[in-house]
Amino acid sequence: MHEVSLANALIELVREQAVAAKASRVTRLVLEIGTLSHVDAHALRFAVDVAARGGPAEGAAVDILEPEGTAYCLDCETSVAIAARGALCPHCGGAKLLVQGGDEMRLKEMEVV
Ligand SMILES: [Zn+2]
Repeated sequence: MHEVSLANALIELVREQAVAAKASRVTRLVLEIGTLSHVDAHALRFAVDVAARGGPAEGAAVDILEPEGTAYCLDCETSVAIAARGALCPHCGGAKLLVQGGDEMRLKEMEVV
């Protein structure tokens, strides 16, 4: 139920921003959910729809961007793409990887009227 609490937090943020922007309605949300964040995009989309009911973002289009995981390998000193946390370096097989991206969970953009 990770997605439900994330969706509730996102919609709360959207509500605050809509009020601050004096917007009557939110028409589109763009979310950035990294592939390493352990969030299921389909489940999140559904949870956002449910969380938005009765508020300014009800019925808003939801676009979800899923940036791939990137890490820096300390062994071969290369930036590499990784599919999961704890993955080994695809170049040298090393395990000393520092995650650099792909674990974000954020509201990237919103469109209001
Ligand atoms: Zn390496």
